[in-house]
Amino acid sequence: SLADRLQNAFSNLRGKGKLNEKDVKEAMREVKLALLEADVNYKVVKDFVKTVTDRAIGEDVLKSLTPGQQVIKIVNEELTNLMGKTQSKIEYASQSPTILMMAGLQGAGKTTTCGKLGHLLKKAGKRPLLVACDIYRPAAIKQLQVVGEKLDLPVFTMGDKVSPVDIAKASIEHAKKYNNDLVILDTAGRLHIDETLMAELIDIKAAVDPKEILLVLDAMTGQDAVNVAEHFNTQLEINGVILTKLDGDTRGGAALSVRSVTGKPIKFVGMGEKLTDLEEFYPDRMASRILGMGDVLSLIEKAQENFDEEKAKKLEGKMKNMTFDLEDFLDQLEQLQNMGPLSDILGMLPGMNNKAMKGLEVNDKDLVRTKAIIQSMTPGERQNPDIINASRKKRIAKGCGMEVFEVNKLLKQFEQSKKMMKQFGQMEKKMKKGGGGF
Ligand code: GDP
Ligand code: MG
Repeated sequence: SLADRLQNAFSNLRGKGKLNEKDVKEAMREVKLALLEADVNYKVVKDFVKTVTDRAIGEDVLKSLTPGQQVIKIVNEELTNLMGKTQSKIEYASQSPTILMMAGLQGAGKTTTCGKLGHLLKKAGKRPLLVACDIYRPAAIKQLQVVGEKLDLPVFTMGDKVSPVDIAKASIEHAKKYNNDLVILDTAGRLHIDETLMAELIDIKAAVDPKEILLVLDAMTGQDAVNVAEHFNTQLEINGVILTKLDGDTRGGAALSVRSVTGKPIKFVGMGEKLTDLEEFYPDRMASRILGMGDVLSLIEKAQENFDEEKAKKLEGKMKNMTFDLEDFLDQLEQLQNMGPLSDILGMLPGMNNKAMKGLEVNDKDLVRTKAIIQSMTPGERQNPDIINASRKKRIAKGCGMEVFEVNKLLKQFEQSKKMMKQFGQMEKKMKKGGGGF
């Protein structure tokens, strides 16, 4: 992956106490190859490498105490700059409703993303209306209706006999009448850029004057996505990009090139097929993800989103009183599961690239098995695991279709986590007494 390649490029720099110009240039040659291989636009790569090299050699990095890390820091900063520095928000119209128009090729993810975005902005307090302007693709209207139903979002359609321009216009009236302050237009796409399609999008734009035109791009298509972006931007003047399928095996090229080629920011990224898998795009976080430094901020946010605060408080109390039992352990596992596949979560931690993950034998199957074992216990056993003797173990194993050694393994894990919590509690006490930080 790109992260691995970049890590490699820097591995020679990291250990060195002193660098010379040649070291930097060599590392940057590797960076250049890695970026090109990740399908980043050639001109973007060339400029990027020049900027970083100039900075690295110019900024007294060579004389600094940790030159290797300094260079990595510069690369990180410049990757961030490449993607636009800060997070770009949706702009709302001063007069309701705000109209957002989706555009993009067929299969890029427009219809799905209409739903995802509507859902995200509804959570932020908006009242979105989804509008079916794709009257060509068979079942496109139905698809949007299904999405709307799943997310409990209203969908406006007029069938496939009315022109997309008229549907868009009528939907604005509908939105005003029903107090929807946000209109999201789902438009048609073609397999390739096509002048008839472009003319239709230009007509819709002229008819409803959308506050934002969001171009939906498939990250998997790499450089092609960037060419599409350039074309759409020249013809339609887009406001931003939503990059989909970033969860797939993308090489990262599109994310890194779009901004510098079009001058338009990526505003959101699609991270999966589920209708909740849309995230705001943060250039700095993406940069550290690309550098393989993990995305700790996203992880923390994800954890906070899924963490049940009440339960956490209760747990804290139990940790202090040392009454943490298998029920609590099960609770914790369930919360972990709510956060999504464990591999996703661990993948966001620094130093956890794919290679490191393979050595780690944690997987979601283990979680499911652990849960099954605990669920096969009686409440008494969960609250007081000490009573679990050999015959109970046999019964528990039988109840969940597993072996006794697996029950033993789980009990050991539980003991370990209890021990860890005890240490944690003691540390906290000490810190409070001493008043010192870390
Ligand atoms: P449209 O033709 O542009 O309207 O594209 P659709 O919304 O119909 O999406 C095409 C396919 O891409 C569907 O199977 C979606 O589930 C899938 N898709 C869309 N966004 C994402 C994403 O972020 N990740 C993944 N893995 N699949 C996505
Ligand atoms: Mg569609």
